[in-house]
Amino acid sequence: MTRSKLIAGNWKMNGGLAANDALLGALRAGLRGSGDATCAVAVAVPAPYLAQAQSLVQGTAIQLAAQDVSQHDGGAYTGEVSAAMLREFGTRYVLVGHSERRQYHGESDALVAAKAQKALAAGITPIVCVGETLDQREAGQTMDVVRRQLAAVIHANGHCISEIVVAYEPVWAIGTGRTASPAQAQEVHAVLRAQMAAATQVAARVPLLYGGSMNAANAAELLAQDDIDGGLVGGASLKAQDFLQIIAAAR
Ligand code: PEP
Repeated sequence: MTRSKLIAGNWKMNGGLAANDALLGALRAGLRGSGDATCAVAVAVPAPYLAQAQSLVQGTAIQLAAQDVSQHDGGAYTGEVSAAMLREFGTRYVLVGHSERRQYHGESDALVAAKAQKALAAGITPIVCVGETLDQREAGQTMDVVRRQLAAVIHANGHCISEIVVAYEPVWAIGTGRTASPAQAQEVHAVLRAQMAAATQVAARVPLLYGGSMNAANAAELLAQDDIDGGLVGGASLKAQDFLQIIAAAR
């Protein structure tokens, strides 16, 4: 079964009207005429810029992603953004369980699973982020941690679990310039693939992304691993040329 590839940029809390215009303009120009059904490209923009980004990516190969979604449908939840709202702006993917949300906003496995559920119900593909801290890696707990994080999402979304994307992002590699080695990343991806295989007969087609200081120089080697189907890219997604080179490495 062929797996589609995905390179998703996570802009985090960066950008502005002029900067977004310039970055998406450069990506549009760089991707023009290079449409490739085997590798999707997405950018996860801050929520206030979804409308702007929607109009800038219209008619291009770039798809829109959000960085978070509420576990609620609507109502008295100040500051939250629902899946239905994201959908109205053409959002195709949403990150759930990014380590920065787990760490700074206390998001639990159960909350992440509930967010994935709301995304799926709205027809948005959740990119479920899992990953261990440095302490956990050094204590030999990596596999237990990522299995536990993914198990919560599988448990809550069993019937449509084949519709998710999983991103393995070792916390110690995010924004640090310290990338997991291709072998380290592949080892975890193989475990995640096996876990998905126990949950769905079509696990082979679920994209497993690597994230954590992926850049133009290391992307090709990471993406060459058997179970790495793409990347979730933070810092390097803010520089058009770097992001385009990562996309080229995936094609
Ligand atoms: C991320 O934020 O998901 C990420 C992987 O960041 P960076 O590429 O900057 O490490």
